[in-house]
Amino acid sequence: MECFIVLPEDVDLARNELMLRGEEAHHAIRSLRLHAGDELLATNLIGACYQCRIEHSIGGMLTCSIEQVLPNFGEPKMDVLLIAAIISQPARWEFLLEKATELGVKAIEAIQTERTEPFHPRLERSKKILRAAVKQTKRAWMPALIFAKDGSQEILFRDAMASAQAEGRTIIVLHEEAPPAHSIVNAIASAIGQRLAIVVGPEGGFTTEEVRLAKSEFSAHIVSLGPRRLRAETASLAALSIAMSHQR
Ligand code: SAH
Repeated sequence: MECFIVLPEDVDLARNELMLRGEEAHHAIRSLRLHAGDELLATNLIGACYQCRIEHSIGGMLTCSIEQVLPNFGEPKMDVLLIAAIISQPARWEFLLEKATELGVKAIEAIQTERTEPFHPRLERSKKILRAAVKQTKRAWMPALIFAKDGSQEILFRDAMASAQAEGRTIIVLHEEAPPAHSIVNAIASAIGQRLAIVVGPEGGFTTEEVRLAKSEFSAHIVSLGPRRLRAETASLAALSIAMSHQR
């Protein structure tokens, strides 16, 4: 069953129906040749999916009857925020966005650290990638994308740590120089509750001062993913996979 994005205001629970419009309706009718009687899944990107059946299409809009409301459909138990130092190559940044969405990340926060290269990912394009990944992976939530408010300055490492701590998240910093015994599995097992922040550095890695700060001021776990030097996106996805597979 294909998944489409429905605007929350186009869902009418009282009448048990919803309407797909624009690009979403066009994709269903023209590309996938769906028609009355066919089933489809709709996500409102803010926590609900709807199992529907197409009733009719008029003027490029699809009216569907809602057969089942599926709150938090496709969502993991762990609420993970990925705090990622900006990766300067757009293709690698976009790969990270797509794969982290498939792995169930709740939010992705782009930060500047001592060694990040200057790069401002295009917000609209990043959101487009997230939306496509949500449809492909069939989730009720689209991950939040957290950039600096006005896009001019970046979110600093310290500020991201502070807000993650304020949200009650256990902070896990991925560091290739962490002792092998400091495994991410132990760090996640020791986390109280289900809210994590996983922090990944830039291509040049975290500075010693950044690691010290995370540990001393924010009680972060500094963890190793093994002896090999991973690319930031590889480390992020490995850590997310381990976090998502953790059953409390
Ligand atoms: N500092 C290294 C590589 C940095 S890789 C260099 O000089 O090339 C980018 C980020 O990926 C790191 O900051 C870290 O967050 C993460 N990472 C890479 N390999 C890792 C490993 N084996 N264990 C934990 N984190 C790792």
